Amino acid sequence: MVDAVVIGAGPNGLVCANLLADAGWEVVVLEAAASAGGAVSSADYLGPGYVADVCSAFYPLAAASPAIADLGLEDHGLRWLHAPAVLAHPLPDGRAALLYRDVEQTAADLDSFAPGDGRAWLRLHRQWDRVRDDLLAALFNPFPPVRAGLRLGAALGPSELLRFARFATLPVRRLGEERFAGPGGPLLLAGSALHTDLSPEAATSAAYGWLLTMLGHQVGFPVPEGGAGQLSAAMVRRLESKGGTVLCRRRVSEVVVRKGRAVGVVTESGDAISARRAVIADVPATTLFGDLVTWENLPGPLRQDVSRFQWDYATVKVDWALRAPVPWRAESVAGAGTVHLADSVDEMTQYCADIAKQQVPRRPFVLAGQMTTADPSRSPTGTEVLWAYIHVPRTVRGDAGDDGISGAWNEADRTAITARIEDRIEEYAPGFRSLITARHLMCPGDLEDHDANLIGGAIGGGTSALHQQSVFRPVPGLGRSETPVRGLYLASSSAHPGGGVHGACGANAARAAITAHSALGRMFVSPLIAASGRLLRGY
Ligand SMILES: Cc1cc2nc3c(=O)[nH]c(=O)nc-3n(C[C@H](O)[C@H](O)[C@H](O)COP(=O)(O)OP(=O)(O)OC[C@H]3O[C@@H](n4cnc5c(N)ncnc54)[C@H](O)[C@@H]3O)c2cc1C
Repeated sequence: MVDAVVIGAGPNGLVCANLLADAGWEVVVLEAAASAGGAVSSADYLGPGYVADVCSAFYPLAAASPAIADLGLEDHGLRWLHAPAVLAHPLPDGRAALLYRDVEQTAADLDSFAPGDGRAWLRLHRQWDRVRDDLLAALFNPFPPVRAGLRLGAALGPSELLRFARFATLPVRRLGEERFAGPGGPLLLAGSALHTDLSPEAATSAAYGWLLTMLGHQVGFPVPEGGAGQLSAAMVRRLESKGGTVLCRRRVSEVVVRKGRAVGVVTESGDAISARRAVIADVPATTLFGDLVTWENLPGPLRQDVSRFQWDYATVKVDWALRAPVPWRAESVAGAGTVHLADSVDEMTQYCADIAKQQVPRRPFVLAGQMTTADPSRSPTGTEVLWAYIHVPRTVRGDAGDDGISGAWNEADRTAITARIEDRIEEYAPGFRSLITARHLMCPGDLEDHDANLIGGAIGGGTSALHQQSVFRPVPGLGRSETPVRGLYLASSSAHPGGGVHGACGANAARAAITAHSALGRMFVSPLIAASGRLLRGY
């Protein structure tokens, strides 16, 4: 018997386990895959000497989130590296919008698109400087963020707070129209918003675009030296140094519930592990509720709420080994770690509309990473590892392009989607294809095979849309890691604040479990949270 069993060794599970171990808990992490890390891992499938990031690659959220930053992973071998420029968005006419760590340099660059656009960017940055600490605290702490919200309100005052609330709900297309005359600023913002599954017209997409670009100034888009897997490895090493354990190839098939309390788990191979204090699940809400915990052990109405859970888009990902760096037409793109490819905000809208209509996009928005540019250790000198993904519908009804991609992701689909992505890159970097020495493709099912949380190729643990955020995440009335089962916590990106490698979902779950076992927690906090949960959910 241990104090806590954590199911899943993704970044949220590993952060959670580290915090529990720090609190003196005996903790074991059970991981289904052959190695820890979940969607934060690297592989050598491009060949010897080439390190590919299997899923995630850039970590502004990890650098900004106290849940990960405060672990002191540098003492456990992690080293962050940065590309010369954070982000580039090339335009079809040969120009490119660039985001640098330096805000003045970025503003000067944007002024070349339209005089005054640099000033508009500096205004957005001033606004960030004013609210960032309270905003990040509100984002990364459990819902409702009472203290951070009060501090934010006090800092802004009532009228500014209202204007900020309007700003936070804007669609990113509208933000671009309101603030910029040229295309550079809107493209940087809209492309960054498309790291979620929000279209440029969706409420709150401006806030995501703004958050990510401003984090680009604050912390950059860093990468771990040696590959994404080094971030996970550092978390595992830290956990082990505190006495915690990670066991791989241990898929949990059941959470054991007795008298309304989670008391342990059973693995696929039949091993039972009891938990004295908590079971913490870094798995999707749809896996935890109804699968690992049977419906008989859950309140009836939760079933309907979970049936309405909305996944985010499916994903197709490609890695390439290149014999030389990408020959971008716009030379300034060469120094950027992250690259966004879309001709215009209109094209991004069309891309999202295709997906909404369950059509494979004709001209997908490509989110790419020049990994050797960011970290020279990823491939031999003079070569490049390029990482990229696009989104596709979860259910494919047709192909908005001319190739008849069916969504079966068979050989014909795989060939056609690879060609479509490579065509997009070739448009901006003529000659790119001739540099390819190896490629590796992952369609939605391949992603799910790698990490059971990426159900149907979703990368965000559920949609980022307003109707499934904060108190609505993963279902109305949860918004926190506590679940209707005592001693059971949801720690994955299905919980608030959602997708991305920030560890906040895991940290929130760890703190909730620790609080529930403190004297104050037992007497006041846990009963209050349970009662408010019942009031909000109606069960
Ligand atoms: C292609 C792709 C690109 C991305 N790019 C970025 C990026 O650049 N930057 C960024 O911040 N985020 C990015 N993300 C998102 C980010 O990786 C995820 O939001 C994050 O990893 C979620 O962490 P998690 O711990 O909740 O889940 P995961 O990382 O998915 O880990 C969950 C773990 O639980 C295990 N598991 C599941 N079920 C069981 C079970 N029954 N028993 C035992 N173990 C189980 C899985 O095997 C997995 O190891 C990307 C994701 C993908 C897929």
